[in-house]
Amino acid sequence: SVILRNVCKSYGNLPIVKSLNLEVKDGEFVVLVGPSGCGKSTTLRMVAGLEDITQGDVHIGDQVVNDLPPHKRNIAMVFQNYALYPHMSVRENIVFGLKKSGADATTIASKLADVSEMLKLNEYLDRKPADLSGGQRQRVAMGRALARDADVYLFDEPLSNLDAKLRHHMRTEIARIQHQYNMTAIYVTHDQVEAMTLGDRVVVMRDGIVEQVGTPMEIYLQPSSTFVATFIGSPA
Ligand code: ATP
Ligand code: MG
Repeated sequence: SVILRNVCKSYGNLPIVKSLNLEVKDGEFVVLVGPSGCGKSTTLRMVAGLEDITQGDVHIGDQVVNDLPPHKRNIAMVFQNYALYPHMSVRENIVFGLKKSGADATTIASKLADVSEMLKLNEYLDRKPADLSGGQRQRVAMGRALARDADVYLFDEPLSNLDAKLRHHMRTEIARIQHQYNMTAIYVTHDQVEAMTLGDRVVVMRDGIVEQVGTPMEIYLQPSSTFVATFIGSPA
């Protein structure tokens, strides 16, 4: 599970995330939505340990991880800008984290085969990220995360750069993986369909606060404010 308790983030005097409370249970897939600049990426980065927390606590499992560096947190993250290792091939990018975590050769080979198949990456395994399109890079970043056996998966708009057909394919794949492996995840998206189909619960953020949390249906049918209604596109 992941718990954020009164988590705040400021840059200088400027508050960006304001006393955020959120609990993601084991096996729960929570989708985070909200307007650009409301603090979604910052929130994920604090869970990942890539951003200091100004105030509050982040728990992963039964541990308070505030002071743990990213590599000591068992998380897998897909970044908004992919953050692939430029000097490594696609294959090396995908297996790097697995190797680091001490997985054996058989596990590594089977995970690599799985994600390459699922993300249609077989043709690209020997290429470097620089020789891939944006959508292909995005799939590598996704593969690298999904290959890991993490306590929490953090996704920052992982499908935003794919065309409609691939996005639909990937959404279906993520839903399948979610059911098969019961992953614990926080998933940021701008896409209402992704939010509605993937989320066990949806968190609507606005200006650094949580505006509403609920199941997709609750959010859609009982928006707590006109802001949520407008943002989600609820029936009037
Ligand atoms: P988007 O949907 O556009 O990705 P977001 O919800 O992920 O937006 P964040 O990236 O979390 O938004 O940024 C939240 C706010 O924090 C923004 O107003 C941004 O300008 C600000 N911000 C982010 N990083 C810094 C920084 N290093 N210094 C100052 N302000 C920052
Ligand atoms: Mg962002």
